[in-house]
Amino acid sequence: MMTTYMNFIANEWSAAYDGRTVDVHDPSTGETFARIARSGGSEVGRAVQAARHAFEGEWGGMAPAARSRLLLRISQALLDHADELAVLEQRDTGKPSRQAQADALAAARYFEFYGGAVDKLHGDTIPYPADYTVLTWREPHGVTGHIVPWNYPLQIFGRSVAAALAAGNACVVKPAEDACLSLLRVAEIAAEVGLPAGALNIVTGLGAEAGAALAAHPGIDHISFTGSPQTGHAVQQAAAANFVPVTLELGGKSPQVVFSDADIESALPVLLNAIIQNAGQTCSAGSRVLIQRAIYSDVMGRLAKLFEATRTGAASDDPDCGPLINARQLARVKEYLHEADDAGISVVARGQLDANAPSGGYFQVPVLLGDVPPDHRLAQEEIFGPVLCATPFDTEEEAVQIANGTAYGLVAGVWTQDGGRQFRMARRLRAGQVFINNYGAAGGVELPFGGSGQSGFGREKGFEALHGFTKVKTVALRHGR
Ligand code: NAD
Repeated sequence: MMTTYMNFIANEWSAAYDGRTVDVHDPSTGETFARIARSGGSEVGRAVQAARHAFEGEWGGMAPAARSRLLLRISQALLDHADELAVLEQRDTGKPSRQAQADALAAARYFEFYGGAVDKLHGDTIPYPADYTVLTWREPHGVTGHIVPWNYPLQIFGRSVAAALAAGNACVVKPAEDACLSLLRVAEIAAEVGLPAGALNIVTGLGAEAGAALAAHPGIDHISFTGSPQTGHAVQQAAAANFVPVTLELGGKSPQVVFSDADIESALPVLLNAIIQNAGQTCSAGSRVLIQRAIYSDVMGRLAKLFEATRTGAASDDPDCGPLINARQLARVKEYLHEADDAGISVVARGQLDANAPSGGYFQVPVLLGDVPPDHRLAQEEIFGPVLCATPFDTEEEAVQIANGTAYGLVAGVWTQDGGRQFRMARRLRAGQVFINNYGAAGGVELPFGGSGQSGFGREKGFEALHGFTKVKTVALRHGR
C-alpha cells in the first residue's frame, strides 16, 4: 500500500480537509511511490493559529537556555536519524546517497549552531545623555512562514527554521510539492524530543495553493522564501499587502574566474563539482567559468576529460550526477541545450549515462559548453541543471565586467595566486559570498549567505540570520541625573 503523508500541525498528523492528495515521484525511476496532503488556505490557517498559540504560550515563554537545550536535543536526534532521513531525501529528490547523507548531517549542524547561539543573542546599551538609560532588545517577529524548494529540503529547512526557532519564533513551513518527506519526519522527531506543539508546523501542497495561502496570510509576521525569482516576486507582492517583511533567496548564475596564474590542478575538480553537485540544481552552483585566454584551451581540454569521466544514474547507485527533480525540469534543461545547438555553441564534453539507469528516470548527463557569448541566454539565465558555460577573457577588467554582467549576484569564485588581485576581485564582484582559491568553503553554517539583484535579498546563515529573524526594540528610560 502506498503511504499518504499528512500535514504536521500542533504536533499532530492531519489530512487536507477534503482529503485531496498530490502524487510523489521517485526522480530516479519516474514512479509514484507516495502521496502528500494537498492543502490550501484552511490548513494554512490552522497551522498559523497553532503557531500563534505556541508563540503566545509555552514556546514563546520558554527561557533562552531551555530553548537552546531543546534545539541541541533536536540536533542530536537528527544525527541519530541521519541514515533514515538520508534515505527519504534520496528517494524524494533523486540525490546521490553521499549527498543525501551530507544534507542530513547539515540539517543537524544548523540546529547545533543555532541551539548554541540562542542565549548569546543580545541587544545593546546605547550611549546617551546621562539622565537616560537606553537599551535595545532583539525580539522575535512572532509567526514566521518558510517556503522551501525541492533542491535541498533538509539543508534549506535547517538554515531558515533552526535560526527562526532560535530567535524565538514559531514556524509554519510549506515544503515543495516535489520533496516534503524528510521535513515531515524532522518535525515529528522534533516533537518526540520535546518541541512544544505549534512551534513547528508543516503544511504540504501545491505552491499556487498552500504556498500562496501562506504568503498572503495576515497572521504571518515574516516570510523566508527560497526558489525562483518569478515565485519570489509573487511571494513578496502577497506579503507586501500585509506589510510583512521577506527574505528572498532566488538562485544565481554564479561565475568562477580562473586567471592564468591559478593552481589549475586544484581548481579543476572544484570547477566540476560546483556544477554537477545535486545535478546542477543548486542556487549557488558555479554555472559559469571565465578562463583567461592564455590558458583557455588547456583548461578546457582538462575539464573536458573530467566531464567525460562522470557517471550519471539512479540515486541509490551513488553516481556523480543523479537525476533532475522532475520531467518539467528535465524538459527545461533540454530546451536550453537545444538553444545552444541552434546558436552554434559547441558542446565540448558530456558525461556518461549508466547502462542500468532506469528508463523512466529524469537524467541529464553533465555538459560542458565552450565559448558561450556572455550576453547569450545560456550565460545569463539560471538553467538549474548540470550545464557549465565557459567563456574566455583577456584582462582583469573584462573578467569583472563579464562576471557582474547578469541580473544575479549570489556567489563568485576567483582562482589566482596574486594576493592583490584576490582582494581587488573580491571587492569588485557582485556577490554575497566570494571564494578565493576554493568554492563554497564546505558550506559552513557560520558563513552569512544571500544575494542581490535577482538573487534576492536578506542574509541567512551565521549570526546574520538571527538578526533577520528578530526585530530591534529600543527602550529609553528617563530617570534624571
Ligand atoms: P518555485 O520557485 O516555483 O518553487 C519554490 C517553492 O515555492 C516551492 O515550495 C513551491 O511550492 C512554492 N511556490 C510555488 N508557487 C508559489 C506561489 N505562487 N506562492 C507561494 N509559494 C509558491 O520553483 P520551481 O517551479 O519548483 O522551479 C522553477 C525554477 O526555479 C527552477 O528551474 C530553478 O531555476 C528555480 N529554483 C531555484 C531554487 C533555489 O534554490 N534558488 C530552488 C528551486 C527552484
